[in-house]
Formats: sequence, structure tokens, C-alpha cells
Amino acid sequence: MTTINQIVCPVCGAINRVPVDRPAAAARCGSCKSALFTAHPTEVTEAMLDTHLRANSIPVLLDVWAPWCGPCRSMAPQFERAAAMLEPEVRLLKLNADDAQATCARLRVQGIPALYLFRNGQPVAQSAGAMAADAIVAWTRNNL
Ligand code: ZN
Repeated sequence: MTTINQIVCPVCGAINRVPVDRPAAAARCGSCKSALFTAHPTEVTEAMLDTHLRANSIPVLLDVWAPWCGPCRSMAPQFERAAAMLEPEVRLLKLNADDAQATCARLRVQGIPALYLFRNGQPVAQSAGAMAADAIVAWTRNNL
């Protein structure tokens, strides 16, 4: 079993090695000193998403959304609450579909909001449509 988690810094993208027996919620980035977990989702670019998917050893939960999408905006506070419940076991990211057409094509995003759960960089589950925070957490745990 691994005793070191690789955690991508949500601020600078540096890859941190965090011992699993130390509280990850208190860990700071070795490069920029930011907290590695803030109990909030991180807005990412396509390039930063690729870094998170490639380098994180913890699961990644991605919310694909857009500013013009009403259901996306109504789900945003639910996703925020889910981050507080799922971190530091899971990294929660948000990707603006308008700025990520290549990624949306690769993930075959049909409609938004869309949730994707990744393990070791590979999608293991997806769900379309808005969900409440409790449902997001239950869906994530069921698919891990
Ligand atoms: Zn950093």
C-alpha cells in the first residue's frame, strides 16, 4: 500500500508528496506555501485539469459548467458544500465548458452541469444534471 499521496497544489499546480498518516487538510504546498485543501472547489483551465488528472493520487471530482447555464449556477453552492464534505479525500474541480472545448469533446459532455469522477486520471463515473450536496457526496462515495 502507498504511504505517500501525491497532491497537486490548487494554486500553483506543483506536485506535493503528502504522507497519508499526516492530516492532509493541514498540509501546505512546498512550492507556494498555499493550503493544499481549502474546502472549496478549484476553478481550473484545461491545462491545469490535465495536471490534476495526471498527478493526483486522490480521486478528482470535476464539475463541468458554464456561466450562462442556470442549473449550473444553482448547483454551484451545492458543489461548494460537497467540497467541504469530501476534501481531503477527493479533489473537487470546476471547468468552464466555454473555455474547454477540447476537454468537453474528449469527455463527450452532452449537457451541463455534468459531473465526472476520475481515479488515476481515468473517468470512472459521470452524471448529468444538477444535484444537491448530499447527493453529490453519496454519488461520489458510491463510485469510489
Ligand atoms: Zn502551490
